[in-house]
Order: sequence, then structure tokens, then C-alpha cells
Amino acid sequence: MKTSDEMKSTYSALRAAAEAQLGNSQPHEVWTLHAEKLLHELHVHQIELEMQNEALRQAQQALEESRDRFVDLYEFAPVGYLTLTVDGMIADINLTAVTLLGRERDKLLNRSLRMWLIDDDKDRWVRHFKAVKNRTEKISIELSLLRGDDTVFQAQLDCVSNGATVRSTLIDITERKLIEEELRIAAVAFLTQNGIMITNSEGVIQRVNPAFTQLTGYTANEAIGKTPAMLQSDRQDSLFYQQMWLTLKENGYWQGEIWNKRKNGQIYAEMLNITAIYSSEQRVTHYVGSFSDITQNKEAEAEIHRLAYYDSLTKLPNRRLLQDRLDQAIIATARSGMYGAMFFIDIDHFKALNDSRGHDVGDLLLVDVAQRLLDGVRENDTVARQGGDEFVVLMETLGKTADETALLAASLGDKLRMALAAPFNLRGYEYHCKTSIGIGLFDAQSTVEELFKHADLALYQAKTSGRDRLHFFDPAMQDALEQRSILEAALRQVVALQQLRLYYQPQLDAKHRVVGVEALVRWQHPQRGLVLPDAFIPLAEDTGLILPIGHWVLETASEQIKAWENDTQMSVLQIAVNVSARQFNQPDFVKQVQNVLASSGANPARLKLELTESMLLEDVQDTIAKMHAIKQLGVLFSMDDFGTGYSSLSYLAQLPLDQLKIDKSFVRNISRSKNDESIVCAIITLGLGLKMNVIAEGVETEVQRVFLAMHGCHEYQGDLFSRPLPLPKLEAFLKLA
Ligand code: C2E
Ligand code: CA
Ligand code: CA
Repeated sequence: MKTSDEMKSTYSALRAAAEAQLGNSQPHEVWTLHAEKLLHELHVHQIELEMQNEALRQAQQALEESRDRFVDLYEFAPVGYLTLTVDGMIADINLTAVTLLGRERDKLLNRSLRMWLIDDDKDRWVRHFKAVKNRTEKISIELSLLRGDDTVFQAQLDCVSNGATVRSTLIDITERKLIEEELRIAAVAFLTQNGIMITNSEGVIQRVNPAFTQLTGYTANEAIGKTPAMLQSDRQDSLFYQQMWLTLKENGYWQGEIWNKRKNGQIYAEMLNITAIYSSEQRVTHYVGSFSDITQNKEAEAEIHRLAYYDSLTKLPNRRLLQDRLDQAIIATARSGMYGAMFFIDIDHFKALNDSRGHDVGDLLLVDVAQRLLDGVRENDTVARQGGDEFVVLMETLGKTADETALLAASLGDKLRMALAAPFNLRGYEYHCKTSIGIGLFDAQSTVEELFKHADLALYQAKTSGRDRLHFFDPAMQDALEQRSILEAALRQVVALQQLRLYYQPQLDAKHRVVGVEALVRWQHPQRGLVLPDAFIPLAEDTGLILPIGHWVLETASEQIKAWENDTQMSVLQIAVNVSARQFNQPDFVKQVQNVLASSGANPARLKLELTESMLLEDVQDTIAKMHAIKQLGVLFSMDDFGTGYSSLSYLAQLPLDQLKIDKSFVRNISRSKNDESIVCAIITLGLGLKMNVIAEGVETEVQRVFLAMHGCHEYQGDLFSRPLPLPKLEAFLKLA
């Protein structure tokens, strides 16, 4: 709308314009007409103007609206926008960027962006900014920015320069970085030594890693699209897989050992972990299976198990496994209410075979015996090797009563003995084997320890009552066993309590002159009186107590030699000392003899050591070497109990022996057994041939003495002349002689 002032000035302007066109001379009507015309034009013009104004106003409004839209767009854009001055100061910043930085806009404007960078990024930013200013294209940088609350976020800035300012976007890439990192880790993890396969929820393989191919032999192409069943061996039944899936569905995780098959058919053991992967709605999307080859571990494990529980020679369960089985058997009798039996089986004179034919032949026999025992029992029975030549057969659920079981066990035991009685062919050598068997019965009340003791004791009795037979455990033996342990306890103290005594049994030559004595030990027991060696020497040998006892005997005999040194009659006597195998086999035995001789001051030539052939069972060469070393000291040797052992004659010639002692069992049979007489004669002949002295022990009768004398025996010892005597009586005997 025009104001009236504006109208007036418009009118005078019109008039001036009309005058200029028409001049002053025109009549008034002309003027009026003209003025109206002009007025009309003016009016039209005015309308046009107003229309223009309206359009303008609308345009302006549109402009204003669009500017508001732009500001919204700018401020609330999904990315931050920064305008930076050439000095790197923030000239403008949108709300998104302000929010990202977590500070007020005022605190950000006109400050350097550098202020909000972590120290490590400051220099990098400065270099980057310089580069941006020198170029026209967009350059990106990733920075760690500090928020107002001092937390840090990962930002990506895309910067571009227009010469005057630098504009940059700002986005938070913290999460993306984390995901990238995880992906990188996952990618590296995928390349481990462990085989990995990823299946979908249906168990169809989607991906496998290189180690999978290495371990299974299947390439990724061969595996993808199949299920892990492609690796299945038949070592697990379907129940195993059902259990596995059940656990997996319940816990989302399964771990275990599993036998699988490689592409080449080879079976291998793997340790497998399966983990389910869930979507955010807790639906299984994938399964990840990761496995390593543990075949070698399994094999080692099996090997260790075999070594720990099985005898390597016969492959039978060893004592340890036997104990386990026995435990089980006792439990089984509790369930069944039946009795079982345990058989201790010992090969008679196995050592003799070992010694005469060599250990490998002995081993052959053990293997064959194991096989025959296995063939002779039921499938559920256990055959074990206790060690050495001792086998054990364990039979469960034999009978309903002890009597019935004993009858059955006796016939089964005889069957086993029969099975072992048939000749063995040991590399062409026919061997006849005899066995002793001890039997212990058990029921639910038995204990493992007790049963072992019983069977052992029964075997012991089978052996002591002549071998080649069966013997049941009987409770009377239990007493004997207890006596034995009481005896053992007392025997431990015997040297310290000075309860040992030496008796001396004279040895005479063909002219009835006493040339020596055999020292025989006795135990002066406070309650039991004088105990003979047969009642405690075997126990001393079993327990190792023979070592201190034997040492005491050696010492005492040496001291006696020294004590007799100045007596004309006694000083010529030789004292024979019995040395047990165990004592002789001590590594320092030579040294012990040397020390005893030195400390007693005895004349070594008066000392004679009686050895038995069992000495040669251990290490023949070592025995020979030791004997020579002792011989060097001047000490003599006699081979005791000669003829009862199994030593081969070829060894005998190598031993520095001075004497052979014919065992009393042969002497006893003179005039009773032609066979034994022949043996006596052969020993004498052998001794003469080897230039050894021959002595007969256990000479009780004149008949025996005459027979021996007739065949050239040099010396005699026995009750015919004198029993073993305590020292004073021996001295009295000698003075009389
Ligand atoms: P041995 O070495 O064969 O000793 C001979 C045994 O025969 C002695 O029994 C002796 O008393 C006995 N005897 C002697 N003459 C006759 C006889 O005419 N008839 C009969 N029936 N027997 C006779 P002893 O003293 O009871 O010794 C038994 C075994 O004990 C010895 O047999 C020997 O093996 C062992 N022994 C004895 N003293 C010792 C020792 O100091 N150390 C070791 N390691 N063993 C010993
Ligand atoms: Ca002897
Ligand atoms: Ca003897």
C-alpha cells in the first residue's frame, strides 16, 4: 500500500511528465484526459507492483523456511560438521559435533581442535592439517578425542580445504573399531593349529580353517555343505552322539575326546570343543567346533596304563591290576552271596631252568605258562603275573558254601597243574614243569590284604611240604604267620642284645685228626632257649637281617682265629663260616672281609667261606671276580651243599674253590640209594680231578664213613664225630682228641 505522501509525489511526478509530453499550451480537458490516462496507467502499474510485492514476500517466506530447514539439517545432521580456520581454530561447529565432544558450544568455538586430542594424536593431527590445507581433495584421519567427561572416543575426520577454511566431518567410530579389532582377532584365531569348523544350526559345515584340512585331510571345498558325520569313526555308538547333542542343546557347550576318521581312513583321537553361537533372540545360529589331535597323548596314555597295570613279558595283569580286580571280585561276591578262590601258582625250580638255559629260555617258559593258564580258565577269571615265576588266578562266584567252593577249587587247581604238566617245547628243548599252588577262598567279608596273605601262606606250605602239589590256606597257618612276625621283631634286636652264639662242629681228616671246625650260629632266646638256625636263618634271609647276623658271625669267627693264634693245637684249625647269597652279593662284601680281617688281626689262611651254588644265580662273572679278590686276601672257599644246586660244571672250574662239600642228603642215603651213592662217588672224582679237597657233611654212621673213605673222600663232618659244640666244650673235645 502506498502512503498519501507517496501518492502526492507520484501525482506531481505524473503532472511533470504530462507537461513534458504535451507542453503548457494544451486545454484543461486534454490535461484531464491525459491525467486520467496516466492515472489509469499508474493504477495498473500499481497493481503490478503489488503483485510483485506479494511474490517477493512469498519468496522471502519460502527462503526463511528453507533457511530454517537448512539450520536443522546442519545442526542435527547424523555427522558432526566443523569449520576450522587456517590456524586450526573451530570457527563453526554443528550440534552433532558439539554433542560428540560433550562440551558447550561456547567452550569449543575459537579453540583449537588440538586441545581435545589425546597426547599421542596431537602431532599427527598437526601434520594432517597442514597436508589438508595444501590440497583440494578430501583427506581422512582417525583420532582419539577427549570428551567433556574425560572419556575418549575414536573419531574419523574427513577434512577438505577451500583455501580459506577447512571443513571437516566428525563421526564416532569407536564401535566400528571394536568390531574391526574383534574381526582381526577372530581371523588370526581361525588360523591356529586347532582345527576349526563352523556349522549352521542344522550342523551343515559352513567354513573350515586350514588346520582342519591338515588334521582331517579334507579341503574346505570337500567339507563345506557336509555335516561333521563325514569324520565319524565307528568307535563311538549313537548313544554317544545323542548325549553330545543333548549337552550341547542344554548348555550350549560340549567338550570331550572323540575318535574320528581322516580322509585316508586313519582313525585318530581328538579333543573337541563345541560352542553354540546364539542370535540376540537366543536362537542358535551356528556351532563352532574346535579340535586338536590327541592321538599321541592317547597312545602315550594307553602305554602308561599298559606299563602300570600289565606285565610286559606275558601281557598279563600285574599285581596292581590284580588288586583292583580282587577288590571288584569281593564286591561281586557280596552281590551274589557266593564264594571265590584265589590261586597262587609257583613254578618249581624255575631258577634252575633260568640258570642252566639262560633267561630268554626262562622267559619263553613264563610266556607259555601264561598262555596255558589263560586257556585253562573261564573268560571272567583273571590270570595275573605277580612277578618272577609266580602267577595268580582269580575265580569269582565258584560255590555257595565254603566246602563246595573248596572242592571246586581243588579240582580246578588240579586242572591247572595238569595243564602245566604237559611238556613245554622251549626252542626245541623239552621241559617238564612242576607247580606248587596255594589256594585262598574268599567271600564278601574278606579283604584284599588278608586274601593275599592267605594264598601266599598256602603256597608257602605247598612248597615246604614238598612242592608239586596244591595246598589250601588253613587258619592254623595264620598263627604260624603271626609267630613269624613276632620272631622277626625279636630277630631285629638279636645282634644289639648279644643273643647270638657260635657253635663249632669239628671237621676231621682221614686220620681222624681235627683239622677245622664249621661255625654254626644259634640264637640264645630269653624265653625259647637255644634256637637252631633253620628256625630263623630263612626268615633272616627274607628280611635282610641276614646281613648284620652274617657280619657278626664273620667277625666273631675271625676274633676266634685271633684268640687261638698262640695255642699250638687250636692255631692250626680252620674255621668255616657260612655266607649266604644275599650277604655275598653286597657290593662291598670284599671290603667287609678285608676290614674284618684287619680289625681282628686274624690269619686269613685260617678262614674258610662256605658258599652255596645259589650265589651263582645272580651274576656269575661278578661272583667269580669277587671270589678272586677274596682269594687274594688269603681266604679259602668251600662249596657247601654240593650236588643240590644246579651250577654248571663249566662255571665250577672257573671258581677259585679249595673244597667241595658233599651235601648231607647224599651222605644220608649211602647204603640206601644207589643213585645217591653214585652222586657221592662222582663228586669225589670231580673234586680230585679239579684238585680240590672233598669233605662230606652229616656223617652219622660208620658205614657212611667207610664208604666215603673207600672212595677217597678227604674229610668228614658229622654227629658220628661230634655235634656242633659251644666254645668251651669244643676246646675240651680237642684236648681229649
Ligand atoms: P649247613 O651249612 O649245611 O650246616 C650243617 C648243618 O648240618 C648244621 O645244622 C649241623 O648241625 C647239621 N649237622 C651236622 N652234622 C650232622 C649230622 O650228622 N646229621 C644231621 N642230621 N645234621 C648234621 P645247623 O647248625 O642247624 O645249621 C643249619 C643250617 O643253617 C646250615 O646248614 C646253614 O645253612 C645255616 N647256618 C648255620 N649257621 C649259619 C651262619 O652263620 N650263617 C649262615 N648264613 N647260615 C648259617
Ligand atoms: Ca655249611
Ligand atoms: Ca651244608
